[in-house]
Amino acid sequence: MSSEHYQCTGIGCGPSNLSVAALLHNHPRIRNIVFDMKPSFSWHEGMMLPGTSLQVSMFKDMVTLADPMNRFSYVSYLHQHGRLLPFLNARFEQVPRLEFADYLKWVANTNENIHFGERVESVDFDGKHFVIETSKRRVQSENVVVGVGTTPFVPEFARTRLDGETHFHIHEFAKGARRFGGRRVLVVGGGQSGAEAVLELLRRTGDDAPSEVSWLSRRENFHPIDDSPFANELFTPTHSNYFYEQGTAFRADFLKRNVLASDGISEHTLRDIYQRMYVMRYIERSPMRVRLMPYRDANEVWRAEDAWMLSARHMGSNAQEILAADMIVWATGFRSAEQSFLQPLNTRLEREDGEIRIDRDYAAVWDGPSNRQIFMLNSVRRQRGLADPNLSLTAWRSQIVIDRMLGQPRRAEPGDDLFVNWAALESI
Ligand SMILES: Cc1cc2nc3c(=O)[nH]c(=O)nc-3n(C[C@H](O)[C@H](O)[C@H](O)COP(=O)(O)OP(=O)(O)OC[C@H]3O[C@@H](n4cnc5c(N)ncnc54)[C@H](O)[C@@H]3O)c2cc1C
Repeated sequence: MSSEHYQCTGIGCGPSNLSVAALLHNHPRIRNIVFDMKPSFSWHEGMMLPGTSLQVSMFKDMVTLADPMNRFSYVSYLHQHGRLLPFLNARFEQVPRLEFADYLKWVANTNENIHFGERVESVDFDGKHFVIETSKRRVQSENVVVGVGTTPFVPEFARTRLDGETHFHIHEFAKGARRFGGRRVLVVGGGQSGAEAVLELLRRTGDDAPSEVSWLSRRENFHPIDDSPFANELFTPTHSNYFYEQGTAFRADFLKRNVLASDGISEHTLRDIYQRMYVMRYIERSPMRVRLMPYRDANEVWRAEDAWMLSARHMGSNAQEILAADMIVWATGFRSAEQSFLQPLNTRLEREDGEIRIDRDYAAVWDGPSNRQIFMLNSVRRQRGLADPNLSLTAWRSQIVIDRMLGQPRRAEPGDDLFVNWAALESI
């Protein structure tokens, strides 16, 4: 087996490590390589429904917040594909998600340091370097950047009953040619993905239209994402640093209190659903039965002779409801992906609140030499706040990681002159 040597090895190539790789492209001092187990680049491809759009600004791309002149910016992508002017004329309120996915693919495919079809199996330390075993080779590295993202989550009581055809997680919604026509479809989960699935089902007509669409949510209403200016301040370096400095109890409560700043539904999606229901009911007189059911806690699912049965508790009255459906879609989110490849270092890494503990530069706190680091991207939400799984601070975070590898002093934060004093003022 060959033993290549790098300064930086990325594990996983979603946006988190794609950004690191883009900023490191042709870097004179950091020889780098990134591995992803997927055969080729894709970004949530089973959820690319027509009309869906990015929930953040296009300037929160892979590089701009760290290096606006970088050739891998979104503007550069538009320019190189000859569509900068038409893009401006189109005046999208938000970039189409399909186009952003194509942008990411372009960034990935233009970088020869990224290798797909290679799963990282283990990371160990030989006293001098990390030793990374993939499904194809072994490499040595001075630093490791873990960016393995998230995996679909379905409540345990339903997990063993998934069949991928009539009972599946939403990340498979747009995969293959699903037949919803004439069927009773039940969507569980009141976030953006659930809303997008419901809207897509309501838009279907003729033979493609379901006979019934039910939408269950644990939340008390179908809440919009808070996209107001001060909510967006939570997605800045200043707030992320402030959050990092607080105690664990404060942080945990904060995440609960402010969940709608990241996990609510885009207002235009809610309006589209409402307007579609209006048109169906009063103008088209559609025969499709639509049931919106907030404040319900699904708790059991089983197979009857010719249908799926789901029981849910009304969280106000405690009444138990039983629903029959031909198809169930779980829009119940994602959880941090497993990191079993870190097993050989398990006892050497500190933990906090169920996460690997990081220092201020996203480096795992461990007992190894201080010039050898494992950086943790998108798996430290409880330490770094709402923006950790989001695209907002991706480029900024990548730059911090790169500067640390280079031993460079911390730069002034791009948000140091923002409008809110999150931390206590220093006493005069
Ligand atoms: C439908 C959808 C839309 C979204 N839209 C937005 C949005 O508009 N704005 C926003 O800010 N956020 C959005 N998000 C949040 C999303 O999590 C981030 O955009 C982003 O995908 C996180 O990137 P990541 O690289 O951390 O993780 P991921 O994108 O999950 O990528 C992780 C990668 O690691 C690879 N991997 C895992 N284990 C291994 C291993 N052992 N070896 C090798 N490779 C491995 C996986 O194959 C995967 O490619 C959206 C999420 C979803 C599901």
